Amino acid sequence: MSATIIDGKAFAARVRGQVAEHVQRLKDEHGITPGLAVVMVGEDPASQVYVRSKGKQTVEVGMNSYEHKLPIDTAEEDLLTLIKTLNADPAVHGILVQLPLPDHLNSDLVINTIDPAKDVDGFHISNVGLLGTGQKSMVPCTPLGCLMMLRDHHGSLSGLNAVIVGRSNIVGKPMAQLLLGDSCTVTIAHSRTRDLAEVCRRADILVAAVGRPEMVPGDWVKPGATVIDVGINRIERDGKTKLVGDVEFASAAQVAGAITPVPGGVGPMTIACLLANTLTAACRVNGLTEPQGLTA
Ligand code: NDP
Repeated sequence: MSATIIDGKAFAARVRGQVAEHVQRLKDEHGITPGLAVVMVGEDPASQVYVRSKGKQTVEVGMNSYEHKLPIDTAEEDLLTLIKTLNADPAVHGILVQLPLPDHLNSDLVINTIDPAKDVDGFHISNVGLLGTGQKSMVPCTPLGCLMMLRDHHGSLSGLNAVIVGRSNIVGKPMAQLLLGDSCTVTIAHSRTRDLAEVCRRADILVAAVGRPEMVPGDWVKPGATVIDVGINRIERDGKTKLVGDVEFASAAQVAGAITPVPGGVGPMTIACLLANTLTAACRVNGLTEPQGLTA
């Protein structure tokens, strides 16, 4: 194996440490405790795990955590009323609605009801527009985590060829905007892309965000490239359940210069960036200096 392993778990621990320090300073110097409200509708097991983990880590960095668990048949009007209440609550600096929502709820309407200044997931249409026009915004957590790791590994990303496989609103598209903002030459590939292997081989930075286990083999990776594997796929192998990414780790690690593992790569950075975004939101609303290195 030749690639450097980018240790997202250790990186995320450092980010949480920085967040905790800033939170302490906010409390000591300004009497402000950042608060994150997480709203979950229904009892999707995977979402429950995430929400628990978010709540635990929020408290660990010294913030207040507010969990709102609503029944699966919650009426849209009731959910919107809760969001408006949280919008108006000065103790709440960040609001996250756990996705996916049950089918009877209009996710776009729900997300766009969140105050953009409290939209720590960065999914509100205003934040999407601000990011797309290079203005200060709340940045989606997963792509922000990827950007932090890339900047840390490369220093400057200027002029590098970046290929992102996947064009979702939560990962692929914002990742592309962020890399463009750092002056990469960006290609977004998707299910209709022709000769995907050849497109990937041009990448100095290859980000895989597809949701297909081990779809990207080592021979799609340019020698020395940095591979960021966003995928989280649960598979059965040798009678056991295993988590794998969208990249075939063993073969890609032979060729890449650096690679994120699954688990322990992008995943831990996502929650760390959620905490960073909540801190940023608390600073902005109070007119205080934002923490350096924790935003795009
Ligand atoms: P989506 O399903 O929303 O998007 C998947 C994208 O992959 C689509 O743009 C789709 O193209 C593209 N795609 C599908 N099949 C192919 C193919 N054969 N070749 C090329 N492109 C293809 O997924 P998400 O963006 O939400 O998530 C992607 C992965 O990242 C998942 O495994 C998810 O679990 C993981 N994830 C991990 C997070 C973390 O914290 N680490 C956070 C969020 C997601 P098209 O648009 O043409 O259909």
